[in-house]
Amino acid sequence: MAKAGQILYRLQLLDTELSEQLSKLREAQALLGESAELRSARRALKKASEELTTCGGRLRELEMDLRRVNDRIAATRDRLYGGRVTNPKELSGLQQDFDYSKRTREKLEDQVLTAMVVVEDCEKSLADATGRLADVQKAWQEQQESLTARLGRLQASIAALRDQREGVAVLLGAGDLALYQELKRRKGGRAVVLLVGQMCQGCRVTLPTSKAQLVRRGADLITCAHCGRILTTES
Ligand SMILES: [Zn+2]
Repeated sequence: MAKAGQILYRLQLLDTELSEQLSKLREAQALLGESAELRSARRALKKASEELTTCGGRLRELEMDLRRVNDRIAATRDRLYGGRVTNPKELSGLQQDFDYSKRTREKLEDQVLTAMVVVEDCEKSLADATGRLADVQKAWQEQQESLTARLGRLQASIAALRDQREGVAVLLGAGDLALYQELKRRKGGRAVVLLVGQMCQGCRVTLPTSKAQLVRRGADLITCAHCGRILTTES
């Protein structure tokens, strides 16, 4: 029959491992869900798409203006050279209108060309952002899949550790367990320490021979007079 101190030491090893696994589980759980990189790639795509809508709209407006000016030029040309208008003053007015419209058309043609270049740039940005989102999404999906697998492994390992812990805890009396829990809380998880020779491994203080012998006998739980931890031997 193992001594209570040794059983508690075994329990502490399981508790330490359990707490490590639980902290890894929390870390992994925190990584579940959308990453900042994914959200940023999605925002970039939305922005590129909105910019294309804006500059595409601007191009269509300019093209419409250009069509209107062309129609006006054609109509003015008909009246100017059609022979129906003979009044010199009216003809001169038409000529001015004709010249003005042609200058407007030149300006509009330049603006249309510039807007076309902008649209091409926007289309390229949109294609880039689409490709980038696809890449980020693919990497993220792979990461989530491996994360899910990791979570499964951690949960299984935690369940196994809890089973083991239960199996060990039933071997202990309620009083010993309560003392262990209390010391664990106060001593940063390290309630039970080994006695090596006559030295407490919790505080490095050397125990009197008689006390060390009591620890080796293991009939009762012995605590270190200096650090208060439960003392035990490895076997
Ligand atoms: Zn000590």
